[in-house]
Amino acid sequence: MRDKSYRRHKDEVKKEKCHQVLLGRAKNNYFSKNKTSDQIHEECSDKKTIGRMASVHSAGCSCHSCGNPRKHFGEKTRQEIISEKKEKEDKEE
Ligand SMILES: [Zn+2]
Repeated sequence: MRDKSYRRHKDEVKKEKCHQVLLGRAKNNYFSKNKTSDQIHEECSDKKTIGRMASVHSAGCSCHSCGNPRKHFGEKTRQEIISEKKEKEDKEE
């Protein structure tokens, strides 16, 4: 079984990934066009934001356009559609 130090390590990895995601979003953002990279970096280094983001797997929000379609419209998610297609193909072969 994994111990606490491993989970702490994975938490750090996840947070670093979220930091990179935030940086990527900020760099492509229209509103940060006139900002220097130092300014962008500082804005994206808020530990509270990163921690909150890491706890929800980098999801920005869960409104109707970003969230799970099953929750909002009763539709199947992309991954479900793909896996069903694959299953069908496997049965045909
Ligand atoms: Zn949203």
